[in-house]
Amino acid sequence: MPEWVPRLEANVLLDFDGELRDLAAYEAYGGYQQLKRAAGWDADTLVAELTTSALRGRGGAGFPTGRKASFLAPGSERYLVVNADESEPGSCKDRELMLRAPHALLEGMLIVMNVLRLTRAYIYIRGEYLTESEVLEVAIAEARAAGYVGAAGPDGYVPEITVHRGAGAYICGEETALLASLNGDRGQPSAKPPFPAVSGAFERPTLLNNVETIATIPVILRLGAAEYRALGTEQSGGTHLMSISGHIARPGNYEVAMSKTLGYLIEELAGGVPGGRTLKAVIPGGASAPILGPEALDILCAPEALAAAGSMAGSAGVMVIDDTTCIVQLALRTAAFYTHESCGKCTPCREGTRWITDTLQRIEDGIADLREIELVLEICDNVEGKCLCPLGDACAMPVRSMIQRFREEFDAHVELGYCPLHETSSLSSLYPQPRSLLPLATVSPS
Ligand code: SF4
Repeated sequence: MPEWVPRLEANVLLDFDGELRDLAAYEAYGGYQQLKRAAGWDADTLVAELTTSALRGRGGAGFPTGRKASFLAPGSERYLVVNADESEPGSCKDRELMLRAPHALLEGMLIVMNVLRLTRAYIYIRGEYLTESEVLEVAIAEARAAGYVGAAGPDGYVPEITVHRGAGAYICGEETALLASLNGDRGQPSAKPPFPAVSGAFERPTLLNNVETIATIPVILRLGAAEYRALGTEQSGGTHLMSISGHIARPGNYEVAMSKTLGYLIEELAGGVPGGRTLKAVIPGGASAPILGPEALDILCAPEALAAAGSMAGSAGVMVIDDTTCIVQLALRTAAFYTHESCGKCTPCREGTRWITDTLQRIEDGIADLREIELVLEICDNVEGKCLCPLGDACAMPVRSMIQRFREEFDAHVELGYCPLHETSSLSSLYPQPRSLLPLATVSPS
């Protein structure tokens, strides 16, 4: 039995113990009541409710959900696509939500589909989430047998839901790449416009939302939009699921009100840094978020507060870093991930991410000179904001922030000619021996 989100006072989305996987359990909890309640709603009513709630997308961009729904172009065939391609390092909240309460996602989808009269919905799920996709298939079959899915209403409207598994590409979490993959094309981003709201899945107007965003809609209807909003801040209503990992006593997923601080999550809920070590840094929104120092403890979890502090809420994957960690290794690990996941379509990302990684490797190996630290910053400037999709920024932003905030560690690698934290850093297993200390004969040309 996995360790699920602990039930806390502020939980409204996962406000139950264990799992509600079965339809019977979900209905006994009150599930599908909001679908019935919203049966007579029109689009304006739903948009107004979502706007009042201040629900913002939980997939990373944080766009206001009501406004997004209002953009959907008219058409005889329109679709809903749920982005379940959760791939950002540090984030695993949608996974828990789908495993524990798959019907919460389905109820949210059916509310949106019924009110907006969307003919079909697709759940595009990360390829590695095999169990999760199987759980969803079972839940859809249950919902079908109960007449929630695939059955005609009085006006002949028939909502259909399909699960579509991806093939393990990080970039397919980006909306245009996801839609290309769903459409049967190569999963690569494309320029906007057209936006998905005008031409998305199969070139039809498409509303595309994250798993948690959609699963939150029944909660908003149950509580009332104003009450839900009051749990958070003026700009970011309610609660959200946060994944916490790294050097932390109790890693996992926690439901946290937007009005709480990162310190509440890190210290009170997750037990702080273990082993008597001290907090060195926090990455608050998945690997692509700029790094913060210990002052992060006082910052609110809401997107606008993290943006004001120079970082971002992203997909709410919080990574805690203690004082034994080498930040050069962390920057290298981060850059290497995005280099690997670059789809190669545009030059600044394809060439820039590789160049950043190679240069950081030289710094970690103790064979770079001081000018190469400036070179990394220069490459970051030439990548950020110059790529077709956010992946280039996702590499450049955290790397730049790590150099700016921990510049002395980068300088020390160059001046000493080896990694000064090599003996302690938990990432050293990835970089077993500083190359500058190896006998020349064992150093192969890079
Ligand atoms: Fe592909 Fe990177 Fe360009 Fe995005 S930024 S389109 S991932 S090459």
